[in-house]
Amino acid sequence: MPTAMPRPMVAGNWKMNTTPAEAVQLAAAVRDGADGLAGVDIVLCPPYISLQGVADAVKGSAVKVGAQNMHFETSGAFTGEVSPTMLQGVCGYVILGHSERRQLFGETDDLVNRKVKAALEHGIKPILCVGETLEQRESGRALDIVAQQVRAGLAGVDDITGLVVAYEPVWAIGTGQAATPEVAAEIMGGALGDTLSSLFGPAAAEVPLLYGGSVNPGNVESYAAQDSIHGSLVGGASLQAEPFLEIARLTAQAKSGS
Ligand code: PEP
Repeated sequence: MPTAMPRPMVAGNWKMNTTPAEAVQLAAAVRDGADGLAGVDIVLCPPYISLQGVADAVKGSAVKVGAQNMHFETSGAFTGEVSPTMLQGVCGYVILGHSERRQLFGETDDLVNRKVKAALEHGIKPILCVGETLEQRESGRALDIVAQQVRAGLAGVDDITGLVVAYEPVWAIGTGQAATPEVAAEIMGGALGDTLSSLFGPAAAEVPLLYGGSVNPGNVESYAAQDSIHGSLVGGASLQAEPFLEIARLTAQAKSGS
């Protein structure tokens, strides 16, 4: 059974939004608003082209930076791709296996697994995304799908130091149809947490588990109130500083009281 609670975390996935100038402006606003905000890690994940600008903007603050994807090779003939060695020194996190990558760009569990291993080997913290589709949920397979994605994504991994896992039901992403906290907690405390524990023993208790899918300032407290949810991966509501900061504040508050 888990014994320690991971540090709460709120990560913003900006997806393919913001010009480089807008990204720096948004990052600076988050940096200023986060000043003095303790008890939660804040991670900004802008498009590749803005990673350096955002990293410069938040330098010296507690705000951290992540990429939205990464290739598993370090260099070579992979047009359009970005490698772990390129990200090293620019950002500390990388989102891997997001459902948009899986659905729109054909990423398989095997590919996600290679990327997760490469990130861990290069000291970049992977935010591994898992989650079932509506069809999988309606056919009663949500728990199995999530457990399988966790096992496949982490196949061959021995040391999970730095790992973050985000449960993002595909039907809840960008739809406004957020999973109820109970549905999220059932998966995160069950299929997700149990699978991690069975694979990695006590080390699994150190892994922050984020819920993602239409999180906003109005619903975040209900997720943060769940013991098995340590924070959130936020899409739409991370594109403006104030709602995103409010999500971070409410998460820190809920977690400090638990
Ligand atoms: C996401 O893209 O990871 C996400 C959770 O998006 P949204 O918050 O917009 O549903």
